[in-house]
Amino acid sequence: MSDPQKFVYSFGGGKADGKAEMKTLLGGKGANLAEMSVLGIPVPPGFTITTEVCAKYYEEGKKLPEAVKPQVQAAIAEMEKLVGAKLGDPTNPLLVSVRSGAALSMPGMMNTILNLGLSDAVVEGMAKKTGNPRFAYDGYRRLIDMFGSTAMGVDHEHFEHELEALKQAKGVKNDTDLSADDLKVLVEKYKAVYKAHTGTDFPQDPIEQLWASIMAVFNSWMGKKAVEYRRIERISGLKGTAVNVQAMVFGNMGSNSGTGVAFTRDPNTGADEFYGDYLINAQGEDVVAGIRTPEPIAQLDQEMPKVYEQLLGIRKTLESHYKEMQDIEFTVQDGTLYMLQTRSGKRTGSAAVRIAVEMVAEGLIDQKTALQRVNPESLNHLLLPQLDPKAKDKPVAQGIAASPGAASGKVVLSAEAAVAHAEAHPDVKILLVRKETSPEDVAGMHLAAGILTSTGGKASHAAVVARGWGKPCVVGCEVVRIDEKTGTVRIGEHTVKAGDYLTINGTTGDVMIGQVATVAPSISGHFATLMEWADKIRTLKVRTNADTPIDSAKAREFGAEGIGLCRTEHMFFGDQRITAMRKMIVADDVEGRKAALAELEPFQKADFVGIFEAMDGLPVTIRLLDPPLHEFLPHDDKGQAEVAKQLGVTSQKVKDRVEQLHEFNPMLGFRGCRLPIVYPEIGDMQVRAIIEAAIEVKKQGKSVLPEIMIPLVGTIEELVFVKTRAVAVAEEVMKDKGTKVDYLIGTMIEVPRAALTADKIAEEAEFFSFGTNDLTQMTFGFSRDDIKGFMPTYLREKILPVDPFQTLDANGVGQLIEIGVAKGRKARKEKTGEHLKVGICGEHGGDPESVAFCHVVGMDYVSCSPYRVPIARLAAAQAVLAEGKTISRDR
Ligand code: PEP
Ligand code: MG
Repeated sequence: MSDPQKFVYSFGGGKADGKAEMKTLLGGKGANLAEMSVLGIPVPPGFTITTEVCAKYYEEGKKLPEAVKPQVQAAIAEMEKLVGAKLGDPTNPLLVSVRSGAALSMPGMMNTILNLGLSDAVVEGMAKKTGNPRFAYDGYRRLIDMFGSTAMGVDHEHFEHELEALKQAKGVKNDTDLSADDLKVLVEKYKAVYKAHTGTDFPQDPIEQLWASIMAVFNSWMGKKAVEYRRIERISGLKGTAVNVQAMVFGNMGSNSGTGVAFTRDPNTGADEFYGDYLINAQGEDVVAGIRTPEPIAQLDQEMPKVYEQLLGIRKTLESHYKEMQDIEFTVQDGTLYMLQTRSGKRTGSAAVRIAVEMVAEGLIDQKTALQRVNPESLNHLLLPQLDPKAKDKPVAQGIAASPGAASGKVVLSAEAAVAHAEAHPDVKILLVRKETSPEDVAGMHLAAGILTSTGGKASHAAVVARGWGKPCVVGCEVVRIDEKTGTVRIGEHTVKAGDYLTINGTTGDVMIGQVATVAPSISGHFATLMEWADKIRTLKVRTNADTPIDSAKAREFGAEGIGLCRTEHMFFGDQRITAMRKMIVADDVEGRKAALAELEPFQKADFVGIFEAMDGLPVTIRLLDPPLHEFLPHDDKGQAEVAKQLGVTSQKVKDRVEQLHEFNPMLGFRGCRLPIVYPEIGDMQVRAIIEAAIEVKKQGKSVLPEIMIPLVGTIEELVFVKTRAVAVAEEVMKDKGTKVDYLIGTMIEVPRAALTADKIAEEAEFFSFGTNDLTQMTFGFSRDDIKGFMPTYLREKILPVDPFQTLDANGVGQLIEIGVAKGRKARKEKTGEHLKVGICGEHGGDPESVAFCHVVGMDYVSCSPYRVPIARLAAAQAVLAEGKTISRDR
C-alpha cells in the first residue's frame, strides 16, 4: 500500500521509492524509471509527482496542494546530491526536464519542458562549465520557447518567427548554422516576445520555473489533444498524469553524444531483432518529431561500439525482467549512456501475435499470458488486405515500411482536410500525405486508411501512432514533396493532386500511383498457433454472418463454426431476382405473388445449396425475409418508370404501390415476421427453398443442419403463426421428396417484448438469437440509421461512453439479454427437458467487449462478419481468462 501522504517518489543512484507495479500512482514513465533504477540500469536521477496530485490539482480548482511543496524540495535536494550539481547555481548548475506520464501511454499528447533551471546567470555558468556557449544559449532559447508556450500560453509561432527572421538576416538555412553570438541575440528576442505576451519578465528563479512547469503538465492533461486522444483510444478512469522531474542529460553536446529510440523487437513484424533509430548530436524530441531522418540503430555499432554493446545488454535485461517487448529511449552524453524511458512497446497486430507466440517458445511467458497479450481488435491488422502479388503496378517511390498492410485512398494533405473529407464522403477512403505528423493531427490520422510522410523514421510520430492503430503507414519517403498551397504532391517526376488516388504498401515501403488491387489474407504461422490456443480455452462458439457461399467459405477458413445469420433479403438483389421480387411486390393478388415467388424460388434454393455445401457439417441459421418491401422499389420517378417497363405495368401502378408502402417509421413498420403473417406465401417459398436445398445437399452425402429463424418476433402468437406454417411446408417437402432432414425453428430476440416474455417464446422456439442491432435500437429508441446527428455529441459530452451500436450497452440492453436468456432457458428446460441454444447475431457479436458480455451471460455462440471471426475467437478465450471479474456496470 502506498502512503496517502506521500506525493513525491524519488529514483536514481541504483535505488527508488517506487516500482513498476505502481503505474496507477506514478504513471508508466515514473514507475518504469524507478524500476530501471533498481535494476541498476543507468537512469538520470529525479522524482515523480503522483497522479493523485493531478487529481487534487483539479479538485482544488487548479491549485497545487501545499503538502506537495516540501516533498518536492526534499526530492530536489536528493537529486542535487546524486548529480553533484545545484539547481540555479551558476558555477555548477543542475538542469532538469519536466515531463508528463500517465498510467497509459499517450505519446506526445501532453506537455514537456526541457532545460529548466537556465537563467541569465546560469546560462553563463553553463557555457563556462561545458566550454560550449553555443550549446548553453541554444538550450536557453529552447527553454524560453517551451516554457513560454506550454506554461504561459504564448503562441510558439511568435518565437518561431524570431528564429526565422534571424536566420534570414544571417543568410543561413539551418538552426545549426547559427553561432553562439547569434543565439545570444535570439535569447534576448525570445525574452522580449515572452514579456510582450505575458506582461512579465522570463522568471529567473528555477523554483518559480519549476512550479509553473509542473502546473503546465497538469493542465495539458485536460488539453484538447489529450482529451481527443483518450476519446479515440477509449481511455477512461484514470486519475490524471504524473509529473517526472529528472536531471537533464544532453545528446546534443557534440559528436560523442546522441539520442535514440528503440524497440527490443521489431514492432512491425515482431521479429526478435533490435529495432530503432538514433541521431548523433541531437535532443530526444528531434528523433520523435521526424524532422531529421535518423540512422538505423545497428549503425550505432560502428559509431559508438561500447555504447551499442551496453545497449544490447540492457535490451536483454529489460526483456527478461519485464517479459515483454520494450520501447526505450536513451541519450548518450559525451560517451556515457543514460536510459530515459522504458515501456511496453506499441506494435502492429502481426507483431503482437508473433511476439506472444515466440515468447512462449522462449519460456518467458505461458500460453494464457500470450493470449492476454494480444488485443483482439489488433488482429484486424493481420486481416488487412495485402497488395495483390499479381498486380503489375510499379512503385514510383520507396520509403520506410512503418506499419504493414496495403492502403489506397484519395490524397488529403492535412488532418483538417481528412476530417472534412470524411464528413462529406464517409465511404471514400483517404490517404493522408504529410511532411511529418504531430499530435495535433490524430483526429485526421484516425480517419485515414493509410499515412505517408516524407520525413521521419521508424519511431516518428506517424509511425508509432499508425502502428498502434494497425493502419498501413510509410514514412521517410524523401522524394515526396508536398505543396499545400497548390494542393499537389510531387513524387520524383510524377505529380498527384489532392483527391487523386495513391496506394502505399506499409509492408515494403512502396508507394504507387492510383488504386492497386489487393488480396485477402489467410491464417497461418504464428497467427494459426495463437488461434489454436484460443480455441482450446474458449467455451463460446463463434459463427459468422454470411449470405453467399464465398463469404461462408472465407469465414470457415477463419474458423467459423457455422452460420449464425444468413440474411435472405441480400439474395434478392441480383439482376433477375430483383425483377421477380418487384413483380411479387406490385402483384395485385395472392396468385400474382405466388407466380413471382415461383420465379425467385430456384435462385433462393441454389444459394442455399451453395451455402450448405460450404458449411458441410456445420449449422446454418437462415433468417426469413426481414426488411420492409419498399426497400426493393425505387423511390424516384425515373427508377419507377424503368421498373414499370420491366414489369409491363404502368408507371402509375408502381408509384401507387410505393406510396401505399410508404412508412413514417420503416424500422418499426411492416417488416420481420409481420411480412409472412400478412403474406404467408413469402415464408412458404423460403422454407420450401431451404428444405429442398438441404435435401439436395444431404443427398450428396454432406451433413446439413438448417436452422430457420423468424425475425422481429414480439409475441408468442406471432411465432406460432409463422412456425406452424413453416413446419407444414417443411413436412410437405420432405414427404414429397421422400427424405428427412433435421431442422430447427427458432427466433430472433430483437424486440424488448420478446426478451421480457422469453419464457413464453421459448416454449415454441428451438433456439434464440439476439438481434442486438434492433434490440439496441428499440431499447434506446434510437433509429439505427439516424444516429449521426447526435451520436458524435453524445460521445463528446460523455452522455454515452461508447456508441451502443458498436459495443453492447451492458447496463440497459444487457439486462434484457440476461432476462431473455434466463427466462428462455428455464422455460424450455421445464417444457422439453432441452437446453435452449442461445446466440447473438447483431454487430456486437464481433466486438471484443460485447463478446465478453455474451460469455458471462452464458450464451452458446456469437456470430459476426467473416473478418471478425478470429477477433471473436480470441475475445472469447480472453473472456474465459478474465472469469471472476464482474461485468462493468458503470456504463
Ligand atoms: C439485428 O437486428 O441485430 C440483426 C442481426 O438483424 P438486422 O441487422 O438484419 O436487422
Ligand atoms: Mg434485426
